Amino acid sequence: MEFKIIAEYFDRLEKISSRLQLTSLLADLFKKTDTNVIDKVVYIIQGKLWPDFLGMPELGIGEKFLIRALSIATGVSDDEIEKMYKSVGDLGQVAFDIKQKQQSASILAFLGAQKASKPLTVEKVYDDLTKVATSTGEGSRDIKIRLLAGLLKDASPLEAKYLVRFVDGRLRVGIGDATILDALAITFGGGQNFRPIVERAYNLRADLGNIAKILANGGIEQLKNIKPQPGIPIRPMLAERLSDPAEMLNKVGNLALVDYKYDGERGQIHKAGDKIFIFSRRLENITNQYPDVVEYISKYVKGNEFIVEGEIIPVDPETGEMRPFQELMHRKRKSDIHEAIKEYPVNVFLFDLMYYEGEDYTVKPLSERRKKLESIVEDNDYVHIATHIITDNVEKLKEFFYQAISEGAEGVMVKSLAPDAIYQAGSRGWLWIKFKRDYQSEMADTVDLVMVGAFYGKGRKGGKYSSFLMAAYNPDKDVFETVCKVASGFTDAELDDLQKKIAELKRDSPHPRVVSTMVPDVWLTPVLVAEIIGAEITISPLHTCCKDQYGEGGLSIRFPRFIRWRPDKSPEDATTSREILEMYKSQLKKIEEKPSDQNV
Ligand code: ATP
Repeated sequence: MEFKIIAEYFDRLEKISSRLQLTSLLADLFKKTDTNVIDKVVYIIQGKLWPDFLGMPELGIGEKFLIRALSIATGVSDDEIEKMYKSVGDLGQVAFDIKQKQQSASILAFLGAQKASKPLTVEKVYDDLTKVATSTGEGSRDIKIRLLAGLLKDASPLEAKYLVRFVDGRLRVGIGDATILDALAITFGGGQNFRPIVERAYNLRADLGNIAKILANGGIEQLKNIKPQPGIPIRPMLAERLSDPAEMLNKVGNLALVDYKYDGERGQIHKAGDKIFIFSRRLENITNQYPDVVEYISKYVKGNEFIVEGEIIPVDPETGEMRPFQELMHRKRKSDIHEAIKEYPVNVFLFDLMYYEGEDYTVKPLSERRKKLESIVEDNDYVHIATHIITDNVEKLKEFFYQAISEGAEGVMVKSLAPDAIYQAGSRGWLWIKFKRDYQSEMADTVDLVMVGAFYGKGRKGGKYSSFLMAAYNPDKDVFETVCKVASGFTDAELDDLQKKIAELKRDSPHPRVVSTMVPDVWLTPVLVAEIIGAEITISPLHTCCKDQYGEGGLSIRFPRFIRWRPDKSPEDATTSREILEMYKSQLKKIEEKPSDQNV
């Protein structure tokens, strides 16, 4: 398949922002894509060469390096390219301009008689970029430059533009996973109504390339029968939140399995023969960070092929007591993994089983999943089943909640034992409800928001970006809607660090997936996710979260304060607009329920 087709579609996609148009144009591109490269085309659209969970190296090409390759390919000096880059601000555009100029000059000079170079194919681009990403050791620098220069030499102006942007990690065609799922449903199912089948498959195997390949080869029927596959992560099941224990029991059908809610790192642990993989909350491959966990699982969990889930918790090796979550961060910062393991030992508390020896457990009720999980874990000091009770009693639930907190847990998870309480991969629902310590604020819980813009500070913070436009995720529209501007809670060091990140993420115009009425000093590509607490949620004409809901404006968080970064969350894992709406409604309810002398 010619790479030209992709470049032309990227050019068209970049110019539109309507989700509907994006989807149908993408579906069009999929129709034109050869079956044997459809997975590669999907990864390229996602701005990567392979899914993150493989833990394969990234391209990791700096701008200087890219300029060098462009210079070799075009004969224009590095200095000249650098100058053009400074004035244009987009290296892809610079590549386009240079190639365009050279092309018209050569056409004029040779009146088209010059021998055309062989057209670039997707296979060639993909293979060469794979070599660029994976070559290591002595001489690899030269090999990488040579390969990149070779591709750029053969590229048309438009191809060069998108090649450079891809390598630079700035593809900017504004397509999220949700849009890719829609387009796949249209191309291979015939319409949007097939979206639930495609989405379910993606929830069980979070690899859009793999899903596209199955669809292209076997059609929608084959996708219907898909099962989880050890080695490919399952999108995690997520919990709703409530603060009234009676309401929680009621919601799950009055009988619940109540687990401690551990405050560590979520780990989805896969065993496939003699291989063990650990995937994080955002499905990155974190196996290398936990060789101790790999060892414990292979020793103490029976079976040849399985997928289990649990929380990895720092513990005091002397007493077995839980240690604060921050210790995992310290552990990650240590360069010597063996030292890290010794200094910050961990235990695993398993709470679910999704696959066992060829059988899909996601479709079975929690009672069955838990029974099987208990039967495969051998008694030991390192891997445990989450501490739990089964109850229908509100007082027992409260007692257990306080016990959990006194032992260092964050609260409890109330889980439905109904016959249809399956593992809802990739979705947040009422089958699991989280009951957390109160943060002593009107806002009962923190939210995780995406940074989409930044403002310059005044006074002591003059000249620095010091307040930030934050947004919630709206999965229905696949966009980010603003909720607040946060300026407090950052340490000086965190602010300094953030300046560097902003330099990498800043852009002149809003990202196509950001919906905002406020205009910050710089827009940011939505990547950074921060945990935020505020005083309360109000309606404000300045913000766009759930704007269609209330005529006067969107929902906004008053007095927001930064708590910490959430590198374990992708922007699509941020708190959703609907969740903020639910929080707003329950806050209203709380105010209405207060005795009248307090309600002033
Ligand atoms: P979410 O994961 O729901 O988006 P979050 O990452 O902000 O939210 P919390 O709101 O603290 O996390 O709650 C959910 C997380 O709790 C899960 O992702 C999981 O890592 C953790 N957890 C701890 N103990 C359990 C348990 N027993 N069952 C399920 N999840 C648990």
